[in-house]
Amino acid sequence: MPAHATDTIAAIASAPGVAGVGIVRVSGPAVPTMARILLGRTPQPRFAHFTAFRDPAGALIDRGLLLHFPAPASYTGEHILELQGHGSVVLLDQLLRRCCGLGARLARPGEFTERAFLNGKLDLAQAEAVADLIAARSQAGARAALQSMEGVFSRKVEAVLHELVTLRVHIEAAIDFPEEEIDFLADPAIQQQLDLVRAGLAQMLREAQRGLRLNDGLRVAIIGRPNAGKSSLLNALAGRDRAIVNATAGTTRDVLREHLNLDGIALELADTAGLRDTEDEVEREGVRRAHGELQRADVALLVTTKAGHTADLGLFDTLPAGVERVVLINKIDLDNLPARHHECEDVHWLWASAKTGEGLDALREHLKRLAGAGSGEGAFSARRRHVLALQQVGVHLQYTANQLAVGAGELAAEELRQAQQALGEITGNYTSDDLLGAIFGSFCIGK
Ligand code: GDP
Repeated sequence: MPAHATDTIAAIASAPGVAGVGIVRVSGPAVPTMARILLGRTPQPRFAHFTAFRDPAGALIDRGLLLHFPAPASYTGEHILELQGHGSVVLLDQLLRRCCGLGARLARPGEFTERAFLNGKLDLAQAEAVADLIAARSQAGARAALQSMEGVFSRKVEAVLHELVTLRVHIEAAIDFPEEEIDFLADPAIQQQLDLVRAGLAQMLREAQRGLRLNDGLRVAIIGRPNAGKSSLLNALAGRDRAIVNATAGTTRDVLREHLNLDGIALELADTAGLRDTEDEVEREGVRRAHGELQRADVALLVTTKAGHTADLGLFDTLPAGVERVVLINKIDLDNLPARHHECEDVHWLWASAKTGEGLDALREHLKRLAGAGSGEGAFSARRRHVLALQQVGVHLQYTANQLAVGAGELAAEELRQAQQALGEITGNYTSDDLLGAIFGSFCIGK
């Protein structure tokens, strides 16, 4: 797509219902002429004109406000026209058709924001945050998306990018003087600069992971042997009988998902099949899905019992790195044990009863903390592709360090070039059309 579109697009940007206000938004070069025809005179920029919207024959469509935002001081960077009418879909549709009759075409999903990106009004991370803000399922998620839309995340990316380029310049300069290359590469300033970039990256990765949780919700996979009380726990947390609770082992054969909003924090709980070796074909498939669930989880919540927990801890052995581990010793009501919790060697231990609900508040609080609750004003939202890109940058920086250690300046420089590219993909300095298509295609129409 050209950076400066030659056509004009239009869409219903908001239609909240019969009683509310609906908006038709138009963007592109045809807007000034269209605005003049609709208003009957040249509109004043950024001024709300109350007017009658009429069809080509002069018949009244609706009465409402007309606003003209001349390029480049507009959302898309192009001329924009907004027509605010009564929030009737029928009237808005007529208004939209009127605009199309005056030279606009229907916009694709996300096309306004895509144009804003292509015209340099937003970078890619900010554009994605617009969609995340609209789709936010929790207050914390919406707040974080707003921060990213305001550029908080992008500025951090740019800061690390700046340090990375500085390092690259140092090393490229050393390569340009091959006879002195080894000495140059051994310069402690290079090592210091590399340490600086890696520290900045590690900090940003932690923040982005938290941002991903705020955005997507914390993904909790409930694991454990059959009959430990996983389904009962899911039901207790969800507050209704979602999973089938059964005293016969092996009932939960598929993965059940529950979305919860805990005090403004989004959680996705997945109740997996009991992780045990089984002959049953269907149950085996359930166990396979349970393992798959763990690969995409932020938290593995092991449900076990006082008698079984020592053996069950082995279920943590196959967890991918970075997954938070929580052990819930269930059924304390059977032994009359008190509810309690503590942290030990990166594992959070809780004693509770899914049946009586005792100890579950401590679990809720812990999950909220892991989800990023109380992470403060500066918390920004992120997407999985951002986290993956940052992890990729980390790999390239590790290779850079390895190459520098053996004095291979050219290879170190190449790793840095790739690190820079991976980082640039976040804000859209380097992007493929496929990626842009996937990102903007997931927006709603009119945004
Ligand atoms: P799952 O196979 O791990 O999903 O286990 P279920 O949730 O189906 O529970 C298995 C059995 O244990 C059921 O009879 C539950 O009522 C019982 N159960 C679950 N949690 C508790 C608990 O905290 N206390 C007691 N006494 N029974 C429980």
